[in-house]
Amino acid sequence: MSQREGSLEAPTRHPLEWQTPEFYNIEATLKEMERVFDICHGCRRCVSLCNAFPVMFELIDESPTLEVDGVPKEMYWQVVDQCYLCDVCYMTKCPYVPPHPWNVDFPHLMLRAKAIQFKQGTPTAFRDKALSSTDRNGKLATIPVVVQFVNAAAKNKTLRGVGEKVMGVDKTAWLPEFAPHTFRPNAAKAKPDAVVDGKRTSGKIAIYSTCYVNYNEPGIGHDLVKILSHNNIPYVLVEKEACCGMPKFELGDLESVAALKEKNIPPLAKLAREGYTIITPIPSCTLMFKQELPLMFPNDAEVQAVKGAMMDPFEYLVARDKDGLLKKDFQTKLGNVSYHLPCHSRVQNVGQKTREMLEMIPDTSVTTVERCSGHAGTWGVKKEFHAMALKIGKPVFRQMNDAEPDYISSDCQLAAHHIEEGIGLLNKDKPPQAKKAETAHPITLVRKAYGLPE
Ligand code: SF4
Ligand code: SF4
Repeated sequence: MSQREGSLEAPTRHPLEWQTPEFYNIEATLKEMERVFDICHGCRRCVSLCNAFPVMFELIDESPTLEVDGVPKEMYWQVVDQCYLCDVCYMTKCPYVPPHPWNVDFPHLMLRAKAIQFKQGTPTAFRDKALSSTDRNGKLATIPVVVQFVNAAAKNKTLRGVGEKVMGVDKTAWLPEFAPHTFRPNAAKAKPDAVVDGKRTSGKIAIYSTCYVNYNEPGIGHDLVKILSHNNIPYVLVEKEACCGMPKFELGDLESVAALKEKNIPPLAKLAREGYTIITPIPSCTLMFKQELPLMFPNDAEVQAVKGAMMDPFEYLVARDKDGLLKKDFQTKLGNVSYHLPCHSRVQNVGQKTREMLEMIPDTSVTTVERCSGHAGTWGVKKEFHAMALKIGKPVFRQMNDAEPDYISSDCQLAAHHIEEGIGLLNKDKPPQAKKAETAHPITLVRKAYGLPE
């Protein structure tokens, strides 16, 4: 083994060999976990990132040998269960990622273990499949009348108690409401603006709306089209859209990810070929198309074309500003914004583009917190993990609360609501604050700052 401390070269990521029989070989996976756990044991940089590393180090420190070889392999699954695939240990922390010869890819090793667990079946399989079927849930829950019942049930303490017992969804965790009118059929049509390409940006946008914005918070989508219209940028909605697959990916259900890719990629690739930049208002969905699908399908030209066309909305708007094509006629100050940069934005390696955009708004001060909120997709609402999700997020709740914000904001709206819950718990025994912060997505904040009506 190389004695070099960390790689001097830019990290590279190996494709996921999920279609080979070796990927699902349990002995080979456990052997690889033993090798990587041993490297982590000697390193321990990631101890504060999530609970996977503390669980691993405790197993090692309490083993008879005080080394990885003293930990029974059946206990490795405890580490796997604590990983929610945020990717931060790979992208921001680990010096031993490829091309370093130690070749550590902790998240993808956890994914491989989860894929094996998923194939074998777990006691929580029914709950996990139900929670991760965001598109199907949205279609069912937004049927008229059903939507009122589903939303009322989510707020009913007795029913939430039953839901916790039967489904394993924590009865105190914040759950999204479903909207009576979804985004896609109700989105305003674009004005007939001319396409003005910049040096860095295409002048026309395709919006992949995401399950969350379509079914749960369509207002974010409506705000996005208002911002584009205000800047005379013509847009279209992606003609057909299914879930991006991230909730299935996080379960290790890679066959379902592949099935969703078959639905999404043809219309997205067509738009990419036509020169559209594709934006999605939820970072996990952007990451799916920018990183995970390209690694699952490295030889698929259409997947790679979509990767090339996909941008975070603020990455696009800031690049548009650099092209001299963004309006800055802001009408409304925002005051203090406590802004959370979520893990799935961080690992896109585009910098703090949302913060840069919010800081363009006059009389607006932005406190940026760049740390895991603990929500982590569907992981944080599960009964067995919700308390840990709040513990992981506590430093974030504290920092964001201490800034005495007018607004709490995160590119990941699920994280924002989890933070809202955490801040509420921090303050529950304190006298009511004079001002209560409003939770709003950064896209909504920009729409407000432009003075555009709701
Ligand atoms: S991917 Fe995220 S959750 Fe998983 S081990 Fe790394 S830091 Fe922890
Ligand atoms: S993933 Fe990398 S940085 Fe993190 S503990 Fe393991 S070896 Fe160290």
